Amino acid sequence: METRKKISLKPFNTFHLDVLTDLFSEIQNLEDLQKVISDPELSSIPKLILGGGSNLLFTNDFHGIVLKNNLKGIQKIKEDDDSVFIQSGSGEAWNDLVMYCIENNYAGIENMSLIPGTVGAAPIQNIGAYGVELKEVFEELEAVHLKTGEVKLFRLADCRFGYRDSIFKNELKNEFMIVKVTLRLSKHPVLNTSYGAIETELKAMGVTDKNIRAISKAVCNIRLSKLPNPDQIGNAGSFFKNPEVSSEKYESLKKDFPELVAHKTQGDKMKLAAGWLIEHCGWKGKQVGNVGMHKSQALVLVNYGHATGDELFAHAKTVQLNVKEKFGVEMEMEVNVI
Ligand SMILES: Cc1cc2nc3c(=O)[nH]c(=O)nc-3n(C[C@H](O)[C@H](O)[C@H](O)COP(=O)(O)OP(=O)(O)OC[C@H]3O[C@@H](n4cnc5c(N)ncnc54)[C@H](O)[C@@H]3O)c2cc1C
Repeated sequence: METRKKISLKPFNTFHLDVLTDLFSEIQNLEDLQKVISDPELSSIPKLILGGGSNLLFTNDFHGIVLKNNLKGIQKIKEDDDSVFIQSGSGEAWNDLVMYCIENNYAGIENMSLIPGTVGAAPIQNIGAYGVELKEVFEELEAVHLKTGEVKLFRLADCRFGYRDSIFKNELKNEFMIVKVTLRLSKHPVLNTSYGAIETELKAMGVTDKNIRAISKAVCNIRLSKLPNPDQIGNAGSFFKNPEVSSEKYESLKKDFPELVAHKTQGDKMKLAAGWLIEHCGWKGKQVGNVGMHKSQALVLVNYGHATGDELFAHAKTVQLNVKEKFGVEMEMEVNVI
């Protein structure tokens, strides 16, 4: 395993920010990881696990070691009449795992087609799209403690998954590297086409016999038409989470803003569409210097080419504050700011 010095992270983050890391190593196998952990010179310096860099905003150079995850391998580990258990190395691209499942007719993650990034990052924020979240198919994961090297198994309850949230974003932030993830997929697909424009897209595609392959294709078509491609314009997807408010707060906002977009969540709460709030503060498509909220997706903060991480972060703060002033609603950042 080679450790390189003063490496630019520009090719490794989807905002294309040209920051440096003091040290950079690619983790190809578990031995590489244990070597880093047991190296006395590396043991006390900050470590950043890097997947696809699609949910990161670097506001500075990184003073520590970046561990680029290259742990590969997808395999079926067991099955029963209804389910199949697929274990994946955490450095596999998430969408490659989705495609593997679709090829084999294992259902459950087709609605999450084309989410960028790695399998190992998926549990960090309990990724989700088009009405499905990772937690619905999650079986267990293995993770290595970055100080002790201990390997620990986390079952569903241990991960404390929430909306774009888990224990790995809270109490255990930066403590572990997730090395393997096991999902429980279904042999008897229950198709979920109720969310977003999936039904409309399936009709436009001329699909009469719905199946997981068609749903995956429909989701890909919608995503490609709606979301800015990070290869062309730097971004990290939705920058903010959709904020949850009490039903009383929702009712009072609805009086002033009858068009407010929201949907009911668990209990008595309402989830507001953060994109709508941002758009109604006038930020959608408005470019400020090198940055802005995207013209067709107000929730997506973009780098028009030469932005720094600080500039992007400052803009996000301005938008966040403006929404708070206008609607009295706090939007939490979804992207990990480093
Ligand atoms: C265009 C676009 C669309 C997107 N759409 C969606 C969407 O629909 N739904 C959604 O949920 N997200 C979406 N995202 C966000 C992003 O794709 C996900 O959060 C993804 O899981 C990030 O994966 P990554 O490998 O790029 O993680 P990175 O950005 O590399 O890392 C993110 C965080 O996880 C940590 N981490 C990464 N891997 C590990 C590991 N193995 N062990 C421990 N910690 C780790 C990192 O240290 C960092 O804190 C989108 C992003 C983009 C750019």
